[in-house]
Amino acid sequence: LEGPAESDKPKERVPVRPITRFEDTPEYKHFLERQEALVGKGDNPYFVAHESPLLDTGIIDGKEVLEFGSYNYVGMSGRKEVKDAAKAAIDKYGTSASGSRLLAGEKQIHKDLEKEIADWKHTEDAIVCVGGHSTNVTFVGNFCGKNDLILYDALAHNSIEQGCKLSDATSRPFPHSDTAALETILKSQRAYYEKVLIVIEGAYSMDGDIAPVPEFVRIKKEYGCFLMVDEAHSACVIGKTGGGVDEYFNLNGDDIDIKYGTLSKGLGTCGGYLAGKKCLIDFLRYNMPGFVFSVGISPALAAGSLEAIRTLRSHPEIMEHLRTAIKAFADSARRRHLDICLAGETAVLPVLVGKDEDAWFLSNELKKRGVSVPPAMYPAVPKGKARLRFCVISEHKPEQIEKALDILEATAREYGIELPRRNYDKA
Ligand code: PMP
Repeated sequence: LEGPAESDKPKERVPVRPITRFEDTPEYKHFLERQEALVGKGDNPYFVAHESPLLDTGIIDGKEVLEFGSYNYVGMSGRKEVKDAAKAAIDKYGTSASGSRLLAGEKQIHKDLEKEIADWKHTEDAIVCVGGHSTNVTFVGNFCGKNDLILYDALAHNSIEQGCKLSDATSRPFPHSDTAALETILKSQRAYYEKVLIVIEGAYSMDGDIAPVPEFVRIKKEYGCFLMVDEAHSACVIGKTGGGVDEYFNLNGDDIDIKYGTLSKGLGTCGGYLAGKKCLIDFLRYNMPGFVFSVGISPALAAGSLEAIRTLRSHPEIMEHLRTAIKAFADSARRRHLDICLAGETAVLPVLVGKDEDAWFLSNELKKRGVSVPPAMYPAVPKGKARLRFCVISEHKPEQIEKALDILEATAREYGIELPRRNYDKA
């Protein structure tokens, strides 16, 4: 037998020692080291199984806990109307769309949901895909080609970064919410690219801060770019009726070219949407790989999402409750001089801890004392900036928030963990 033809051999590569067992890979060894260092500090705060919907409380190991880890911002997962709508859709259509929507998978409930999203987000049309993360990957990964440039916020979500990796376009991050830095890049680079896509989030999930969207709108207009806003943590959270950044900043319907959102947070189900001009959405329906070559969102999730949007729009008190909870948390944390990073107006209210191992330990210990809150650690946040990422939802009452923060402070004190303090008078 002859060896591979010369042309089949990998070029410019030197022979290396083959790895044939996954356990021997450097990435697995690194993973093990990190796990061992942290698991030694107590139980694992990840993959904690809940036995109930995540509302103001949840059930873990048969015990009720105060729940502060969920993205169920307006209580839609577990809400009766939403569950009933999902159950009715299962009875009518079954449990799966059973095919790509382009072929046999389309249902009236898909069309109704997309129409409702477009109306809610003040756009001409909208498209819904099966996963929030995968919607970003497939859109960002395919909207731009080799003659194009993608500029994305340095703190943008992993799904946006993954989309950039997939894309043939040139891509680069700009410093977080730094519109001056973005403008500097555009001044020198805009001329060399056909399309330029700017990608930001409406509200950021690690610090809870809101992007200066109107300034991005000005820049995208001045330099002729497309602006995409990921509304995972701003839709159903900011704006008087939970309409997201448009409503919060009083923008025009077409100031943002691509409004992305996930169905898994405020809307209580699972999936991703893109809302924008009809020409773009029509194009995506026939061309976006993650839509065309994937099954349609399940009828139950489509029906649940549709009901969630309708419920939110017709019950203004839900947003009132969420705002009350956000304010109660931010006020109480500030009174205690806890450092809540840049948060205060969105539902993500991180409490800075500092060291990874302290955040890990506190999360485990708080769970034992009836408070469920996950840690956020490096690489999700910078080294030394580990935090407990509290999320509040519309169901939380001020007393529950007060109690959770009391337990946090008492636990930290008991174990000699100094929570970083911040003087808000000087802020
Ligand atoms: N974008 C952002 C900003 C997110 O935080 C997330 C999830 N945490 C996603 C997209 C992906 O959404 P999903 O979890 O619904 O896949």
